[in-house]
Amino acid sequence: MVNYRYLGNSGLKISEITYGNWLTHASQVENDVASACVRAALDAGITTFDTADAYANTAAEQVLGDALKGERRESLEIFTKVYWATGPKGPNDVGLSRKHIMESINGSLTRLGTDYVDLYQAHRYDVETPLEETMQAFADIVRQGKALYIGVSEWTADQIREGAALAKQLGFQLISSQPQYSMLWRVIEDEVVPASKDAGVSQIVWSPMAQGVLSGKYLPGQPAPAGSRATDEKGGAQTISRFMTDETLAAVQNLKPVAAELDLSMAQLAVAWVLQNDNVAAALVGASRPEQVAENVKASGVTIPAELMKQIDDALDGVIERDPGKTLANMPKTRPV
Ligand code: NDP
Repeated sequence: MVNYRYLGNSGLKISEITYGNWLTHASQVENDVASACVRAALDAGITTFDTADAYANTAAEQVLGDALKGERRESLEIFTKVYWATGPKGPNDVGLSRKHIMESINGSLTRLGTDYVDLYQAHRYDVETPLEETMQAFADIVRQGKALYIGVSEWTADQIREGAALAKQLGFQLISSQPQYSMLWRVIEDEVVPASKDAGVSQIVWSPMAQGVLSGKYLPGQPAPAGSRATDEKGGAQTISRFMTDETLAAVQNLKPVAAELDLSMAQLAVAWVLQNDNVAAALVGASRPEQVAENVKASGVTIPAELMKQIDDALDGVIERDPGKTLANMPKTRPV
């Protein structure tokens, strides 16, 4: 079964393997497969589920809500997000204004079929809304009981510090940050993680498997396997492309002996690796098939000895992104309508 970790400086426990439905539900996979993946997650002991209003332009929340129907609500932790444009994508259908936050939470609750979400996350930092306005809206949503806790995603260290301080003044806590983090993408280590530790914030990390690349199934110079994300023309092929170079794919193959030594698959090794960081509360994994969920949860509770952590660094030398400036560089400079 899956181990639990506290989320930030709060009393909330979440499953350290968390299931996410970006690019899959209401997009790459049919609804019956989506339901089967959620069932596999529940059967394996995953209780924490992550989605966003923007996934499949709101349809992914509906699919997840339908798949979780009938489950005991108190036994689940349901997370969603607000920021990216949804619906007709008008001027107020995006961002972190009070108007958009207050309207979005209601839509998310309806689609998810629940009275509250456990965690409501700012999907990005909104440079066009005063941070005070955003945090006041989140404070009100917490007071209304529509969200129990608040988090952010892909905020810089400074933004996390400022957001956490404002939250404290307003009488609630910012407890989580949701950044990309994997053996190949380590940009949070130098700045975001130390700032988060100081602020009582933990990381729920996305694409721990680099979207499937770290499973080792993509081979340099070979076509991608049929049905894999790299062949998904609805979005996956484009988002995974940054990792699909021969240099990266060849380096990833060097991880095979490390996984073998631990008696893990390469996918399990990738998920276990992010969980070695004690500021990480959960690895947020995706799946296009239930068998992947069953395989990936076995990463829970694995300890990777220091010498193998070093071997991983050596195997991937030259293809690891560590620049802390990437968080700011990738942040939207205006609202993306
Ligand atoms: P992963 O790195 O876990 O990639 C998941 C994909 O890898 C699967 O859909 C599957 O794709 C493939 N895969 C999974 N398990 C295996 C396996 N055992 N063997 C081989 N291939 C496997 O994470 P995601 O990129 O899916 O992101 C996870 C979650 O993170 C999202 O659902 C979302 O909740 C969150 N997220 C948040 C973002 C943010 O901005 N806050 C941005 C992106 C994601 P396939 O079979 O199709 O190849």
